[in-house]
Amino acid sequence: MPFVARTKHREAPKLNLIPALKYFVGAIALTASNAWGEPLVTAPNSNCKASDVLLHNGVIYTANTQQWQADVVAVKAGRVAFVGTEEQAKGWYCGAKETIDLKGSTVFPGFTDAHQHLEGVGKRTRTLSLFGLPTLQETVEKIKAFAANVPSGEWVLGRGWIEREWQDEQRFLTAADLDPFTENKPLFMPRADGVSAVVNSKALAMAGVTKDTPDPEGGKFERYPDGTPTGYILATAMDQFRAILPHESDEYIKENLRRGMEVNVSRGWTHTHDAGMKIREVEQLRELAKNNAMLHRVYIAMPIDDASYLFSHGAEKAPNAMFNLNAIKVFIDGTLGSRGAALLAPYSDADHNGFMNRTTKTELMPVLDEALRNGYQIMTHVIGDRALKVTLDWYEESWKALPQAQWKTQDLRWRLEHAQIIPPEEQTRMARLGIIASMQPSHAIGDLNFAPARLGAERLTYAYPWKPLVDKGIKVVGGSDAPVEVGDPRIEFYAAISRSRLDGSRGDGWHAEYALSREDALRMFTLWPAYASFQEAEYGSIEVGKYADFSVFDTDFMKAVPADILNAETIMTIVGGKKVFVRQ
Ligand SMILES: [Zn+2]
Repeated sequence: MPFVARTKHREAPKLNLIPALKYFVGAIALTASNAWGEPLVTAPNSNCKASDVLLHNGVIYTANTQQWQADVVAVKAGRVAFVGTEEQAKGWYCGAKETIDLKGSTVFPGFTDAHQHLEGVGKRTRTLSLFGLPTLQETVEKIKAFAANVPSGEWVLGRGWIEREWQDEQRFLTAADLDPFTENKPLFMPRADGVSAVVNSKALAMAGVTKDTPDPEGGKFERYPDGTPTGYILATAMDQFRAILPHESDEYIKENLRRGMEVNVSRGWTHTHDAGMKIREVEQLRELAKNNAMLHRVYIAMPIDDASYLFSHGAEKAPNAMFNLNAIKVFIDGTLGSRGAALLAPYSDADHNGFMNRTTKTELMPVLDEALRNGYQIMTHVIGDRALKVTLDWYEESWKALPQAQWKTQDLRWRLEHAQIIPPEEQTRMARLGIIASMQPSHAIGDLNFAPARLGAERLTYAYPWKPLVDKGIKVVGGSDAPVEVGDPRIEFYAAISRSRLDGSRGDGWHAEYALSREDALRMFTLWPAYASFQEAEYGSIEVGKYADFSVFDTDFMKAVPADILNAETIMTIVGGKKVFVRQ
């Protein structure tokens, strides 16, 4: 991992003569020279403006409509001290302690992944990953090879399989696929969406699940006609397996968080919104923050099951804004791929309309009340139109139930996470209520492979409707949901502007017209996520006074052909003026 944090510390401001001479000829009296004809520079010119680092000779996009592009940016004490043209930058070169020649690369305001799971991103670096395998057969073989090295009696763990991308058979994994080589080893492997999983017969036996076990509220055991569980389990049915998984130490969790940040900054993220961080993860991350070991900023939502922790501790933000706990993540329905998303009308390819109640109304309403009283943000996982409609109903009901005088703030900015299927009247309601749509462009370009079958043509007219939402004035914030997806700003940006598969192709009903302009795609990963975490005054654009968070790539996302964005290289990631990643 090419991680480098090597900010140069120099005591005195130093003239970087090459650029200085290049730009200051005629502007500042650099005419004094010694006997050898070398310029005499003893102290910074009084016209020099001090900064810690200055970036120049590249393309700088600010995401600030008043000054969309700039040539030079200077950073002082972790914040933007200057951003402007070469002409305006004159006094800044000579006062910079360090000058970075961008050599033509492109600087963006720090990219924010507005929905991811940091611990999972780190854990993915050390458990079996089944992402990207082309066939069911290869997936099973990879699990078999991995399981062979797991001692008898221990758990076989991995994640990321996704049947819809297999070329041989597109069906869910079952215990029968895995039992032949895991007889004495329980196995638990979540599908890529993390909302369903496959377990083997040993795990079913250990959890005490038989054909007589009823489906839990908000979950399901897939079964053979005689009722025997197949081993494919959905949503809350995963809980009783998670409960018997081996204990993970605090150190293990902390290391996963650290690795997750390392992966993120290498991809160019300067900030993530964590959509459901459990108590132990929060505590380990806080420790990393206190030890100055954060590589990027994290805005945290705790899952509703852990909401009492937030209620008793209160919101919490580190002085340097690297750690920020302020939200609650609620789960309502499942996913579209597994037909777990709750739809108003039945699936076009099944005789049911999905399920919800992963969180019941009885559980949710007191939490919404507490959130209103204390200013906590609510972020709710909704995918189907039924889940979305009902959640908006509940939001509104809670607002009516508590007199506004008892709200901590009227500025709620409550969010819907995923929000994949939004009928036009609900889009209008979201705009009216000031609801934020937190969406994952990469989900759409994957889901659109099967969404026509699940939803039918009519519902596709309001599925993944980025542009219609933006046109209604709704803030659409972009995220990857990593480790569900790769967690790569290049893929997310590409998907947002192209709305096509990575190979550029696009199927029927993909509604290319719902893609975003590049300007809006940039806002979707910078300014709008800052707003969606109540921090638009602090970052999200490159403006004087805001934190110096920059994502630097060798490719200009605003001009490159879309395919070239996918091949871009992260050159440098800067958080609070500090280089947290530098491409070697
Ligand atoms: Zn998620």
